[in-house]
Amino acid sequence: MKLALGCIADDYTGASDLANMLTRCGLRTVQTIGVPADALKLPDVDAVVVSLKSRSIEASKAVARSREADKWLRARGASHVLFKICSTFDSTDAGNIGPVMDALRADSGDGIVLVTPAFPGTGRTVYQGNLFVGSVPLNESPLKDHPLNPMHDSNLMRVLARQSKANVGLVDLATVAKGADAIRARLAELARQGIGAAVIDSVFDPELETIGRVALDQGLSVGASGMGLGLARGLVASGRVKAASTGSDQATIDGPVACLAGSCSQATLGQIAQAEKSMPVLHLDAEKVVSGGGEAERALGWAREHLAKGPVLIASSSTPEQVSALQARHGRDAAGRAIEQTMAAISEGLVAAGVRRLVVAGGETSGAVVDRLGIPAFLVGPEIAAGVPVLRCVGWDKGDAVLALKSGNFGGPDFFNDAIRLMP
Ligand code: ADP
Repeated sequence: MKLALGCIADDYTGASDLANMLTRCGLRTVQTIGVPADALKLPDVDAVVVSLKSRSIEASKAVARSREADKWLRARGASHVLFKICSTFDSTDAGNIGPVMDALRADSGDGIVLVTPAFPGTGRTVYQGNLFVGSVPLNESPLKDHPLNPMHDSNLMRVLARQSKANVGLVDLATVAKGADAIRARLAELARQGIGAAVIDSVFDPELETIGRVALDQGLSVGASGMGLGLARGLVASGRVKAASTGSDQATIDGPVACLAGSCSQATLGQIAQAEKSMPVLHLDAEKVVSGGGEAERALGWAREHLAKGPVLIASSSTPEQVSALQARHGRDAAGRAIEQTMAAISEGLVAAGVRRLVVAGGETSGAVVDRLGIPAFLVGPEIAAGVPVLRCVGWDKGDAVLALKSGNFGGPDFFNDAIRLMP
Protein backbone atom coordinates (compact mmCIF):
# COMPACT_ATOMS: atom_id res chain seq x y z
CA MET A 1 0.00 0.00 0.00
CA LYS A 2 1.23 3.48 -0.89
CA LEU A 3 -0.38 6.49 0.72
CA ALA A 4 -1.47 9.29 -1.60
CA LEU A 5 -1.66 11.75 1.29
CA GLY A 6 -0.25 11.95 4.80
CA CYS A 7 -1.55 14.39 7.41
CA ILE A 8 -0.28 15.44 10.82
CA ALA A 9 -2.92 17.14 12.95
CA ASP A 10 -2.01 19.22 15.99
CA ASP A 11 -5.10 18.12 17.96
CA TYR A 12 -7.52 15.18 18.06
CA THR A 13 -10.76 16.89 17.12
CA GLY A 14 -9.07 18.74 14.25
CA ALA A 15 -7.75 15.39 13.09
CA SER A 16 -11.24 13.83 13.14
CA ASP A 17 -12.68 16.77 11.28
CA LEU A 18 -10.00 16.43 8.60
CA ALA A 19 -10.30 12.64 8.38
CA ASN A 20 -14.04 12.99 7.95
CA MET A 21 -13.55 15.63 5.24
CA LEU A 22 -11.08 13.48 3.29
CA THR A 23 -13.47 10.54 3.48
CA ARG A 24 -16.37 12.66 2.20
CA CYS A 25 -14.14 13.63 -0.75
CA GLY A 26 -13.66 9.95 -1.62
CA LEU A 27 -10.31 9.16 0.04
CA ARG A 28 -10.26 6.01 2.14
CA THR A 29 -8.86 7.42 5.34
CA VAL A 30 -7.47 6.14 8.62
CA GLN A 31 -7.07 8.39 11.65
CA THR A 32 -4.42 7.21 14.10
CA ILE A 33 -4.22 8.18 17.75
CA GLY A 34 -0.62 9.37 18.10
CA VAL A 35 2.23 8.15 15.92
CA PRO A 36 1.46 4.48 15.26
CA ALA A 37 3.75 1.60 16.08
CA ASP A 38 5.63 0.29 13.06
CA ALA A 39 3.72 -2.95 13.40
CA LEU A 40 0.31 -1.31 12.83
CA LYS A 41 -1.28 -3.08 9.90
CA LEU A 42 -3.24 -0.63 7.81
CA PRO A 43 -6.13 -1.55 5.55
CA ASP A 44 -5.81 -0.41 1.95
CA VAL A 45 -6.22 3.37 2.34
CA ASP A 46 -5.39 6.56 0.45
CA ALA A 47 -4.74 8.82 3.42
CA VAL A 48 -3.66 8.64 7.04
CA VAL A 49 -4.24 11.43 9.54
CA VAL A 50 -1.90 11.14 12.53
CA SER A 51 -3.57 12.83 15.51
CA LEU A 52 -1.18 14.56 17.89
CA LYS A 53 -1.84 16.79 20.88
CA SER A 54 0.87 19.26 19.90
CA ARG A 55 -0.93 22.57 19.59
CA SER A 56 -0.11 23.97 23.01
CA ILE A 57 2.86 21.91 24.19
CA GLU A 58 6.50 23.07 24.21
CA ALA A 59 7.66 23.81 20.64
CA SER A 60 10.60 21.39 20.74
CA LYS A 61 8.28 18.52 21.70
CA ALA A 62 5.78 19.47 18.99
CA VAL A 63 8.62 19.46 16.46
CA ALA A 64 9.94 16.07 17.59
CA ARG A 65 6.50 14.40 17.49
CA SER A 66 5.58 15.95 14.15
CA ARG A 67 8.88 14.84 12.58
CA GLU A 68 8.30 11.33 13.88
CA ALA A 69 4.80 11.33 12.34
CA ASP A 70 6.18 12.70 9.07
CA LYS A 71 8.79 9.95 8.91
CA TRP A 72 6.14 7.31 9.53
CA LEU A 73 3.89 8.70 6.77
CA ARG A 74 6.66 9.12 4.23
CA ALA A 75 7.88 5.58 4.93
CA ARG A 76 4.42 4.46 3.76
CA GLY A 77 4.69 6.28 0.49
CA ALA A 78 3.14 9.67 1.27
CA SER A 79 4.77 12.06 -1.17
CA HIS A 80 2.73 14.96 0.20
CA VAL A 81 2.15 15.71 3.88
CA LEU A 82 -0.36 18.26 5.16
CA PHE A 83 0.46 19.76 8.53
CA LYS A 84 -3.11 20.32 9.78
CA ILE A 85 -3.58 23.35 12.00
CA CYS A 86 -6.66 25.05 13.37
CA SER A 87 -8.64 27.18 10.92
CA THR A 88 -8.20 30.10 13.32
CA PHE A 89 -4.40 29.62 13.25
CA ASP A 90 -4.31 28.91 17.01
CA SER A 91 -0.71 29.47 18.10
CA THR A 92 1.53 31.87 20.00
CA ASP A 93 4.71 33.74 19.05
CA ALA A 94 6.61 30.73 20.42
CA GLY A 95 4.80 28.40 18.00
CA ASN A 96 3.92 25.80 17.34
CA ILE A 97 2.96 26.34 13.70
CA GLY A 98 6.22 28.06 12.65
CA PRO A 99 8.70 25.71 14.32
CA VAL A 100 6.89 22.58 13.11
CA MET A 101 6.58 23.98 9.57
CA ASP A 102 10.31 24.85 9.53
CA ALA A 103 11.34 21.37 10.67
CA LEU A 104 9.02 19.53 8.25
CA ARG A 105 10.12 21.80 5.40
CA ALA A 106 13.76 21.06 6.10
CA ASP A 107 12.97 17.33 6.14
CA SER A 108 10.95 17.47 2.92
CA GLY A 109 13.55 19.55 1.10
CA ASP A 110 10.85 21.91 -0.22
CA GLY A 111 12.00 25.37 -1.24
CA ILE A 112 8.67 27.02 -0.47
CA VAL A 113 5.57 25.89 1.45
CA LEU A 114 1.98 26.97 0.86
CA VAL A 115 0.16 28.02 4.03
CA THR A 116 -3.54 28.78 4.46
CA PRO A 117 -6.11 28.13 7.18
CA ALA A 118 -8.84 29.23 4.73
CA PHE A 119 -12.09 27.27 4.53
CA PRO A 120 -14.61 29.71 3.05
CA GLY A 121 -17.51 27.27 3.44
CA THR A 122 -17.08 27.41 7.20
CA GLY A 123 -16.49 31.16 7.36
CA ARG A 124 -12.68 31.17 7.36
CA THR A 125 -11.40 33.38 4.55
CA VAL A 126 -7.97 34.86 3.89
CA TYR A 127 -7.58 38.12 1.97
CA GLN A 128 -4.25 39.95 1.52
CA GLY A 129 -2.93 37.46 4.06
CA ASN A 130 -5.47 38.56 6.69
CA LEU A 131 -7.63 35.86 8.28
CA PHE A 132 -11.33 36.58 8.72
CA VAL A 133 -13.61 34.59 11.02
CA GLY A 134 -17.06 35.11 9.55
CA SER A 135 -17.34 38.85 8.89
CA VAL A 136 -14.62 40.06 11.28
CA PRO A 137 -10.82 39.92 11.25
CA LEU A 138 -9.29 37.26 13.51
CA ASN A 139 -8.19 39.81 16.11
CA GLU A 140 -11.79 41.02 16.53
CA SER A 141 -13.24 37.50 16.73
CA PRO A 142 -13.78 35.56 19.98
CA LEU A 143 -10.27 34.11 19.38
CA LYS A 144 -8.83 37.35 20.78
CA ASP A 145 -9.85 36.04 24.23
CA HIS A 146 -8.78 32.40 23.83
CA PRO A 147 -7.40 31.15 27.17
CA LEU A 148 -4.32 29.40 25.68
CA ASN A 149 -3.53 31.29 22.49
CA PRO A 150 -5.25 34.66 22.21
CA MET A 151 -4.99 35.87 18.59
CA HIS A 152 -4.32 39.62 18.47
CA ASP A 153 -3.13 39.93 14.87
CA SER A 154 -5.13 38.96 11.79
CA ASN A 155 -2.14 39.34 9.45
CA LEU A 156 -0.88 35.78 9.01
CA MET A 157 2.37 36.86 7.35
CA ARG A 158 3.28 38.76 10.49
CA VAL A 159 1.99 36.02 12.81
CA LEU A 160 3.95 33.32 10.99
CA ALA A 161 7.11 35.45 10.62
CA ARG A 162 7.24 35.81 14.40
CA GLN A 163 7.23 32.02 14.78
CA SER A 164 9.28 30.85 11.81
CA LYS A 165 12.85 31.19 10.63
CA ALA A 166 11.57 31.34 7.03
CA ASN A 167 10.88 34.57 5.18
CA VAL A 168 7.12 34.77 4.65
CA GLY A 169 5.42 36.02 1.48
CA LEU A 170 1.94 36.23 -0.05
CA VAL A 171 0.13 34.72 -3.01
CA ASP A 172 -2.73 37.16 -3.30
CA LEU A 173 -6.31 36.61 -4.42
CA ALA A 174 -5.76 38.24 -7.82
CA THR A 175 -3.11 35.59 -8.56
CA VAL A 176 -5.27 32.77 -7.19
CA ALA A 177 -8.13 33.92 -9.43
CA LYS A 178 -5.89 33.50 -12.50
CA GLY A 179 -5.46 29.79 -11.77
CA ALA A 180 -2.87 27.13 -11.04
CA ASP A 181 -0.17 28.28 -13.47
CA ALA A 182 -0.27 31.85 -12.17
CA ILE A 183 0.10 30.54 -8.62
CA ARG A 184 3.05 28.36 -9.69
CA ALA A 185 4.72 31.35 -11.37
CA ARG A 186 4.22 33.50 -8.27
CA LEU A 187 5.67 30.75 -6.04
CA ALA A 188 8.73 30.47 -8.26
CA GLU A 189 9.17 34.24 -8.07
CA LEU A 190 8.84 34.22 -4.26
CA ALA A 191 11.29 31.32 -3.99
CA ARG A 192 13.83 33.30 -6.05
CA GLN A 193 13.44 36.12 -3.51
CA GLY A 194 14.36 33.71 -0.71
CA ILE A 195 10.80 33.32 0.61
CA GLY A 196 10.30 29.96 2.35
CA ALA A 197 6.59 30.13 3.27
CA ALA A 198 3.78 31.64 1.21
CA VAL A 199 0.44 32.51 2.77
CA ILE A 200 -2.18 32.08 0.06
CA ASP A 201 -5.49 33.95 -0.12
CA SER A 202 -8.82 32.18 -0.55
CA VAL A 203 -12.33 33.59 -0.20
CA PHE A 204 -14.41 31.05 -2.15
CA ASP A 205 -14.34 27.26 -1.78
CA PRO A 206 -13.64 26.43 -5.46
CA GLU A 207 -10.24 28.14 -5.07
CA LEU A 208 -9.27 25.44 -2.58
CA GLU A 209 -9.13 22.84 -5.34
CA THR A 210 -6.76 25.01 -7.40
CA ILE A 211 -4.63 25.61 -4.31
CA GLY A 212 -4.67 21.90 -3.50
CA ARG A 213 -3.55 20.99 -7.02
CA VAL A 214 -0.58 23.36 -6.80
CA ALA A 215 0.28 22.27 -3.26
CA LEU A 216 0.57 18.68 -4.51
CA ASP A 217 3.59 19.74 -6.62
CA GLN A 218 5.42 20.01 -3.32
CA GLY A 219 6.15 17.71 -0.41
CA LEU A 220 4.52 19.77 2.34
CA SER A 221 1.63 22.14 2.94
CA VAL A 222 0.23 23.82 6.03
CA GLY A 223 -3.49 24.37 6.42
CA ALA A 224 -6.83 23.43 7.95
CA SER A 225 -9.61 21.15 6.69
CA GLY A 226 -10.13 23.52 3.73
CA MET A 227 -6.62 22.70 2.50
CA GLY A 228 -7.48 19.04 3.12
CA LEU A 229 -10.51 19.41 0.88
CA GLY A 230 -8.38 21.04 -1.82
CA LEU A 231 -5.72 18.33 -1.67
CA ALA A 232 -8.32 15.54 -1.73
CA ARG A 233 -10.14 17.06 -4.71
CA GLY A 234 -6.80 17.59 -6.43
CA LEU A 235 -5.84 13.95 -5.91
CA VAL A 236 -9.18 12.68 -7.25
CA ALA A 237 -9.26 15.12 -10.20
CA SER A 238 -5.75 14.13 -11.28
CA GLY A 239 -6.64 10.42 -11.13
CA ARG A 240 -4.02 9.75 -8.44
CA VAL A 241 -6.84 8.51 -6.21
CA LYS A 242 -9.95 6.67 -7.39
CA ALA A 243 -12.79 8.07 -5.28
CA ALA A 244 -14.29 5.41 -3.03
CA SER A 245 -17.76 5.34 -1.56
CA THR A 246 -17.83 4.74 2.17
CA GLY A 247 -19.75 2.05 3.89
CA SER A 248 -20.28 -0.38 1.05
CA ASP A 249 -17.71 -2.91 2.24
CA GLN A 250 -18.50 -3.10 5.94
CA ALA A 251 -18.27 -6.59 7.40
CA THR A 252 -20.83 -7.04 10.17
CA ILE A 253 -19.82 -6.98 13.81
CA ASP A 254 -21.32 -9.22 16.45
CA GLY A 255 -21.67 -8.43 20.11
CA PRO A 256 -23.84 -6.11 22.14
CA VAL A 257 -24.31 -2.40 21.56
CA ALA A 258 -23.88 0.27 24.23
CA CYS A 259 -24.02 4.06 24.41
CA LEU A 260 -22.30 6.42 26.85
CA ALA A 261 -23.16 10.08 27.36
CA GLY A 262 -20.89 12.45 29.28
CA SER A 263 -21.88 15.59 27.43
CA CYS A 264 -24.26 17.93 29.23
CA SER A 265 -25.10 19.96 26.11
CA GLN A 266 -28.70 20.79 25.27
CA ALA A 267 -28.53 18.58 22.18
CA THR A 268 -27.26 15.55 24.12
CA LEU A 269 -29.83 16.00 26.90
CA GLY A 270 -32.55 15.94 24.24
CA GLN A 271 -31.02 12.89 22.56
CA ILE A 272 -30.94 11.02 25.89
CA ALA A 273 -34.61 11.84 26.48
CA GLN A 274 -35.40 10.52 23.00
CA ALA A 275 -33.36 7.33 23.59
CA GLU A 276 -35.40 6.60 26.77
CA LYS A 277 -38.32 5.80 24.46
CA SER A 278 -36.50 2.89 22.85
CA MET A 279 -33.77 1.56 25.16
CA PRO A 280 -33.01 1.16 28.85
CA VAL A 281 -31.14 4.23 30.19
CA LEU A 282 -29.14 4.39 33.41
CA HIS A 283 -28.49 7.83 34.88
CA LEU A 284 -25.35 7.89 36.99
CA ASP A 285 -25.36 9.73 40.28
CA ALA A 286 -22.73 12.38 39.50
CA GLU A 287 -22.18 13.18 43.18
CA LYS A 288 -21.36 9.52 43.89
CA VAL A 289 -19.12 9.37 40.81
CA VAL A 290 -17.02 12.27 42.05
CA SER A 291 -16.90 11.11 45.66
CA GLY A 292 -15.99 7.53 44.67
CA GLY A 293 -19.26 5.79 45.42
CA GLY A 294 -18.85 2.71 43.19
CA GLU A 295 -20.97 4.04 40.33
CA ALA A 296 -18.89 2.30 37.65
CA GLU A 297 -19.51 -1.12 39.24
CA ARG A 298 -23.22 -0.37 39.65
CA ALA A 299 -23.46 0.71 36.00
CA LEU A 300 -21.65 -2.38 34.75
CA GLY A 301 -23.83 -4.69 36.85
CA TRP A 302 -26.89 -2.98 35.38
CA ALA A 303 -25.49 -3.16 31.84
CA ARG A 304 -24.72 -6.88 32.07
CA GLU A 305 -28.39 -7.52 32.96
CA HIS A 306 -29.67 -5.64 29.90
CA LEU A 307 -27.04 -6.00 27.16
CA ALA A 308 -28.25 -9.33 25.81
CA LYS A 309 -31.69 -7.84 25.06
CA GLY A 310 -30.54 -4.84 23.00
CA PRO A 311 -28.75 -1.49 23.15
CA VAL A 312 -28.35 0.33 26.48
CA LEU A 313 -27.38 3.90 27.37
CA ILE A 314 -25.44 5.01 30.45
CA ALA A 315 -25.40 8.77 31.04
CA SER A 316 -23.71 11.08 33.53
CA SER A 317 -25.29 14.09 31.84
CA SER A 318 -27.30 16.52 33.93
CA THR A 319 -28.95 19.89 33.56
CA PRO A 320 -26.86 23.10 33.71
CA GLU A 321 -28.14 23.81 37.25
CA GLN A 322 -27.07 20.38 38.51
CA VAL A 323 -23.70 20.68 36.75
CA SER A 324 -23.06 24.10 38.36
CA ALA A 325 -24.00 22.76 41.79
CA LEU A 326 -21.64 19.78 41.46
CA GLN A 327 -18.83 22.02 40.19
CA ALA A 328 -19.35 24.42 43.09
CA ARG A 329 -18.92 21.52 45.53
CA HIS A 330 -15.90 19.83 43.89
CA GLY A 331 -14.33 22.29 41.43
CA ARG A 332 -14.94 22.18 37.70
CA ASP A 333 -11.80 20.34 36.61
CA ALA A 334 -11.90 17.77 39.41
CA ALA A 335 -15.57 16.99 38.74
CA GLY A 336 -15.05 16.77 34.97
CA ARG A 337 -11.99 14.56 35.23
CA ALA A 338 -13.58 12.20 37.78
CA ILE A 339 -16.62 11.72 35.57
CA GLU A 340 -14.53 11.26 32.42
CA GLN A 341 -12.41 8.60 34.12
CA THR A 342 -15.51 6.81 35.39
CA MET A 343 -16.95 6.79 31.87
CA ALA A 344 -13.61 5.43 30.62
CA ALA A 345 -13.70 2.69 33.26
CA ILE A 346 -17.28 1.84 32.28
CA SER A 347 -16.26 1.61 28.61
CA GLU A 348 -13.50 -0.82 29.58
CA GLY A 349 -16.01 -2.96 31.52
CA LEU A 350 -18.46 -2.88 28.62
CA VAL A 351 -15.77 -4.11 26.25
CA ALA A 352 -14.91 -6.87 28.74
CA ALA A 353 -18.62 -7.79 28.65
CA GLY A 354 -18.39 -8.21 24.88
CA VAL A 355 -19.50 -4.82 23.58
CA ARG A 356 -18.01 -4.14 20.13
CA ARG A 357 -20.34 -1.35 18.99
CA LEU A 358 -20.04 1.73 21.19
CA VAL A 359 -21.53 5.22 20.84
CA VAL A 360 -20.02 8.02 22.95
CA ALA A 361 -21.45 11.53 23.35
CA GLY A 362 -19.06 14.27 24.50
CA GLY A 363 -15.70 15.42 23.13
CA GLU A 364 -13.63 15.07 26.31
CA THR A 365 -15.58 11.96 27.26
CA SER A 366 -14.73 10.39 23.88
CA GLY A 367 -11.03 11.24 24.32
CA ALA A 368 -10.95 9.59 27.75
CA VAL A 369 -12.70 6.48 26.39
CA VAL A 370 -10.44 6.10 23.35
CA ASP A 371 -7.30 6.59 25.45
CA ARG A 372 -8.46 4.05 28.04
CA LEU A 373 -9.41 1.46 25.44
CA GLY A 374 -6.00 1.86 23.77
CA ILE A 375 -7.41 1.95 20.25
CA PRO A 376 -4.50 2.79 17.92
CA ALA A 377 -6.45 3.90 14.83
CA PHE A 378 -9.82 4.19 13.08
CA LEU A 379 -10.96 3.72 9.52
CA VAL A 380 -13.47 6.49 8.85
CA GLY A 381 -16.83 5.19 7.61
CA PRO A 382 -20.26 6.55 6.68
CA GLU A 383 -21.52 9.74 8.25
CA ILE A 384 -24.21 9.41 10.94
CA ALA A 385 -24.73 13.16 11.26
CA ALA A 386 -22.72 16.13 9.98
CA GLY A 387 -19.17 15.66 11.26
CA VAL A 388 -19.86 12.34 13.02
CA PRO A 389 -18.75 9.25 11.10
CA VAL A 390 -18.86 5.58 12.03
CA LEU A 391 -15.29 4.65 13.06
CA ARG A 392 -13.98 1.14 12.58
CA CYS A 393 -11.10 0.19 14.88
CA VAL A 394 -7.83 -0.63 13.16
CA GLY A 395 -5.13 -2.72 14.80
CA TRP A 396 -6.96 -3.00 18.13
CA ASP A 397 -5.94 -5.94 20.31
CA LYS A 398 -9.64 -6.60 21.11
CA GLY A 399 -10.39 -7.25 17.44
CA ASP A 400 -13.03 -5.78 15.16
CA ALA A 401 -15.23 -3.04 16.63
CA VAL A 402 -16.96 0.20 15.65
CA LEU A 403 -17.38 3.43 17.57
CA ALA A 404 -19.22 6.69 17.06
CA LEU A 405 -17.72 9.66 18.88
CA LYS A 406 -19.57 12.95 18.88
CA SER A 407 -19.06 16.38 20.36
CA GLY A 408 -21.92 17.43 22.57
CA ASN A 409 -23.86 19.62 20.19
CA PHE A 410 -23.68 17.34 17.15
CA GLY A 411 -26.35 15.03 15.82
CA GLY A 412 -30.11 15.02 15.33
CA PRO A 413 -32.78 14.37 18.00
CA ASP A 414 -32.57 10.55 17.64
CA PHE A 415 -28.77 10.46 17.39
CA PHE A 416 -28.22 7.30 19.44
CA ASN A 417 -30.56 5.23 17.27
CA ASP A 418 -29.24 6.90 14.10
CA ALA A 419 -25.73 5.81 15.10
CA ILE A 420 -26.76 2.24 15.93
CA ARG A 421 -28.62 1.91 12.63
CA LEU A 422 -25.51 2.84 10.63
CA MET A 423 -23.21 0.50 12.53
CA PRO A 424 -22.50 -2.76 10.74
P1 ADP B 1 -19.12 18.29 25.11
O1 ADP B 1 -18.68 17.70 23.82
O2 ADP B 1 -20.60 18.51 25.21
O3 ADP B 1 -18.30 19.50 25.52
P2 ADP B 1 -17.44 16.78 26.89
O4 ADP B 1 -17.42 15.32 27.14
O5 ADP B 1 -16.31 17.36 26.07
O6 ADP B 1 -18.84 17.14 26.21
O7 ADP B 1 -17.45 17.60 28.22
C1 ADP B 1 -18.40 17.38 29.23
C2 ADP B 1 -17.68 17.50 30.57
O8 ADP B 1 -18.67 17.52 31.59
C3 ADP B 1 -16.78 16.32 30.84
O9 ADP B 1 -15.61 16.75 31.49
C4 ADP B 1 -17.64 15.45 31.75
O10 ADP B 1 -16.89 14.60 32.57
C5 ADP B 1 -18.36 16.51 32.54
N1 ADP B 1 -19.62 16.03 33.10
C6 ADP B 1 -20.39 15.01 32.68
N2 ADP B 1 -21.48 14.86 33.44
C7 ADP B 1 -21.42 15.82 34.38
C8 ADP B 1 -22.25 16.18 35.48
N3 ADP B 1 -23.39 15.53 35.75
N4 ADP B 1 -21.87 17.23 36.25
C9 ADP B 1 -20.71 17.90 35.99
N5 ADP B 1 -19.89 17.60 34.96
C10 ADP B 1 -20.23 16.58 34.18
